Parts: sequence; structure tokens; C-alpha cells
Amino acid sequence: MGKPTGFLEYQRLSEAYEPVEARLRSYKEFVVRLTDAEAAVQGARCMDCGIPFCNNGCPVNNIIPDWNDLVYRGNWQQAIEVLHSTNNFPEFTGRICPAPCEAACTLNINAEAVGIKSIEHAIIDKAWEEGWVQPRPAAVKTGRKVAVVGSGPAGLAAAQQLARAGHDVTVFEKNDRVGGLLRYGIPDFKMEKGLIDRRVAQMEAEGVTFRTRVVVGTQDIPAGIVNDAARMVSAEQLQNEFDAVVLAGGAEVPRDLPVPGRDLDGVHFALEFLIPQNKQNAGDASNPISAKGKHVVVIGGGDTGSDCVGTSNRHGAASVTQFELMPMPPEQENKPLVWPYWPTKLRTSSSHEEGCERDFAVGTKAFVGENGRIKALKAARLEWKDGRMSEIPGSEFEIKADLVLFAMGFTQPVGGVLDAFGVAKDARGNAKAATDGEGCYTTNVPKVFAAGDMRRGQSLVVWAIREGRQCARAVDAFLMGESLLPR
Ligand SMILES: Cc1cc2nc3c(=O)[nH]c(=O)nc-3n(C[C@H](O)[C@H](O)[C@H](O)COP(=O)(O)OP(=O)(O)OC[C@H]3O[C@@H](n4cnc5c(N)ncnc54)[C@H](O)[C@@H]3O)c2cc1C
Ligand code: SF4
Repeated sequence: MGKPTGFLEYQRLSEAYEPVEARLRSYKEFVVRLTDAEAAVQGARCMDCGIPFCNNGCPVNNIIPDWNDLVYRGNWQQAIEVLHSTNNFPEFTGRICPAPCEAACTLNINAEAVGIKSIEHAIIDKAWEEGWVQPRPAAVKTGRKVAVVGSGPAGLAAAQQLARAGHDVTVFEKNDRVGGLLRYGIPDFKMEKGLIDRRVAQMEAEGVTFRTRVVVGTQDIPAGIVNDAARMVSAEQLQNEFDAVVLAGGAEVPRDLPVPGRDLDGVHFALEFLIPQNKQNAGDASNPISAKGKHVVVIGGGDTGSDCVGTSNRHGAASVTQFELMPMPPEQENKPLVWPYWPTKLRTSSSHEEGCERDFAVGTKAFVGENGRIKALKAARLEWKDGRMSEIPGSEFEIKADLVLFAMGFTQPVGGVLDAFGVAKDARGNAKAATDGEGCYTTNVPKVFAAGDMRRGQSLVVWAIREGRQCARAVDAFLMGESLLPR
């Protein structure tokens, strides 16, 4: 522990944001990373408590107290070694992880948590700048071949771990670029895409082969889900050509709202708006959906909804309103009751701060159109009692809407690929595979494994990385009889 009295002496310093006006003019990241000196002071706030709850709160079990201490002492190179020992891509999590570790920080019981995520961000960005992040090709090749289906954080983490264990890894991706939702979904202003390209170059130097625009197992990809594939590889082909297959295709089927008027022009799934924006920012075709001058209504209060708010404001929307079905959560959690767990509380994202009306306990009843185009949305207020929802009589209202975006979550993976392999599904339609014990991450089909959102359902980047890493270990053990990869 660097400074025993640090938590008493220093206040939490959060990363600064560029002013709203400036950041709305571009899709660039706007979070200003801590300076080395600031990060060192923040590291000194860590108490190195006997039981590091943060380490358990973090899904990849980052060894947080150790790198806090190393940053405090100025030993940045060792800090990145420790950080990389549990997390393949801290530049992703250091930007977009909701930081359950901070909810679990012991200081968070009666003071402000250590700014763990901002320290992680500082360590990895400095490491790249200093040239400390280099390819680590395996010293010995095993001659075993592994196919990874899907290049989101789960597929990338699995591929990197497996290549470092000496296997020949090929990643198949139906889209034109690598990264899954990191690339196509999460806006550039939250995470610039050059960060993915840099990792992909590292992984290629470690021997990973990427085959983009190749869809595996099915061409039956529902409308509204991005599919740039120029060719298909069958499940059988992969099973014949590879010694193991990892299915990491995400959970891309969006939740729909089939109320009257659903078919009107101007009513879209969130990703029909967000993905073309990522493509436009990358210099590809322009976004066919514009929010400029429009009254935008976003239905759904999570990350995806928030990303629609931020993107709409960057388009120059006339107004942005976000509806949430659930009642407004408390602004402050009851800490003695919920700590160290992730609390339910009102979360105001940087996109909300940029301009958005938020309304809670609202149910959408219909979309009203004129000449085939949406012009208003009919909704009603809801009452929640004992976990049950009912409409408040006489509470119906109408709101102007030229663009409606559905951000109500994702239900399951595109089923075709699981069916093509004959993989059994759980009750929600995800690939059925356990995460513990003998045979973890294996499906019912020999040598076929599953990880990430495709296995656990819609989740977080940090969980996808965890599953990719753990799945890689299971595959390695299956191929070699044992594995030295970390669990
Ligand atoms: C708009 C949005 C914002 C989000 N923001 C955050 C955030 O701020 N923080 C956070 O932690 N999480 C966030 N998430 C969730 C997070 O992005 C996902 O949980 C995570 O990316 C899942 O990783 P994955 O690798 O399992 O799947 P994905 O990232 O979905 O990647 C799966 C990949 O597999 C490919 N694929 C699928 N089927 C096939 C096939 N048959 N053949 C070839 N390729 C295939 C897909 O094209 C895709 O590229 C957000 C999600 C969305 C939609
Ligand atoms: S990955 Fe997320 S939970 Fe883990 S230390 Fe980083 S910010 Fe915290």
C-alpha cells in the first residue's frame, strides 16, 4: 500500500469532459484522461483493504490494489503488466466499463470510491504511448487449429489467449470490420475505433487470422441486423477444418414494440441508426437516418438509449426525449443495504447531460402517422405495484415525434448459427453452456464452445472479455489435456 493515509488526505478527482458545446460538434472522444501526477494521487487513495472487494466486483478480477500502488509509486510499466495479466483490452474497459469495481470499493461505503476506471484508462493509454504494448507471439506452436465465430470483445479475447497458447486461430466475422458492438454499435464519442485497429494489428502479429465479410452457418440474418457478408462458410466446414470452434456471435436480435403504427417511416431499431453512424464516421456510406431538426423519442433507458441520445444531439435534433418503462430509481442508493453490489440508482450519462428530457414509468401505446410517416407517439403513465405494472386511467398523452428509436435491449443471438451447429439453447435462446466445472464453456456439440453475449445474453464488454478468456482456457485444456492459461 503506497500511502496509508492517502484516502484521508486526497479527494476523488474524476476525469474531466470537454464542454458540451465543443463535444457536440464532433464524434471524437471527449474524456480528458488524468495526468500521471493526478493518477498517482488517485492511486494513493486506495486503502489496499484486507479483502479487496473491488477485485471481486470486477468481472475480469483485475488486481486493482496492486496497480493502484504501482501507479502511486510511478512504476507504470509494472502496472500495465499486472493489468494485462487479467484483462486483454483495458483500453476498452477503461473507457466504457460501467465500473462495478467502484461500486464494490470499500471507500464507497462512506466516502467516494477510488477512481479505478480512470486509473486503468491512464495506465493503458500511457503503455501504448510508451511502446510497452507489443505483440507476444507464442514461443512454441501446437499445430492445433481453432475457429472463432464473431470478433466482438468475447471473440477477440478468446482469439488472443488461444494464439498466445500457440494455436492457429482464425476469426470469422460477417461484418466488414472487426470489433462486434465495439465497432458497430458503441458510438465513436465513447470509444474511437482506432483503438480496435491497434489491437487487431497486435493480434495479427501474434498469428491471428481475421476473415471479415464471412458469415458462418447461416445466411438467414433478420432485417435490421448488420450483415456485410460476401460469402458463407458452413458449420460442417468449420467442424471439419478446425480442431475446435468458439461461437462468440453476440446477441443481436433487438426487442421490438409491435404496437399500432410500428411500420411507419421513421420508427427504427437503435442499431439501424447507430451502426450507419459508425460507418459514416469511418468514411464509409453516410447514415440514411438523420435526426437533424427532428423531434426524437428514444424508447428504453439503458446504454443503447443513451447512445441514441448522444448521436441525435450530434445530428442537431430539435428535441430528444427518452422514455423508460420502469419508475425513476432513487438518486442515491441505500449503501448499507446494497454495498458491495451494483446498485439500482439514477444514472445520468454524459449523453443525457448534452440535452435530453427523461420520463419514467411511461408505456408507448401507438405511433401516429401522416402519409406513412411518424408524426406523434401515444403513451400512457404507468403505476408499478408489487412488481406489477398497470396503466393509470386517464393518463394518456401524445408527444410530437419525427424519429423514434427502439433501445429496449436484445433478446437473443441470431438463432441460425446455433441451429447450423446443432447447439442446444437455454430458455432465452442463448447457447447452452456452463461456466464452471469440468467441460465449462462446452456446448452439447463435440469441440464446439460458446462465450460472451451469445452464451450469457446481452451483457457488458467486461463480461464478454471474461468469458472469452475463460473459454480460451477451456479450449486449450480440451486440445492439450491441460492449460496454463489463467482462468
Ligand atoms: C449501442 C450499445 C452500446 C453499448 N454500450 C456498452 C457500454 O458502454 N459498456 C459496456 O460494457 N457494454 C456496452 N454494450 C454491450 C456490449 O457491447 C456487449 O455486451 C459486448 O459487445 C458483447 O460482446 P460479444 O463479443 O459477446 O458480442 P458482439 O460484440 O455482439 O460481437 C459479436 C460479433 O459476432 C458477429 N457474428 C454474429 N453471428 C455471426 C456469424 N454467423 N458469422 C460471423 N460473424 C457473426 C457479429 O457480426 C459481431 O461482430 C453496448 C451495446 C450496445 C448495443
Ligand atoms: S474492467 Fe471495469 S470493473 Fe474491472 S477494474 Fe476496469 S472499470 Fe473496474
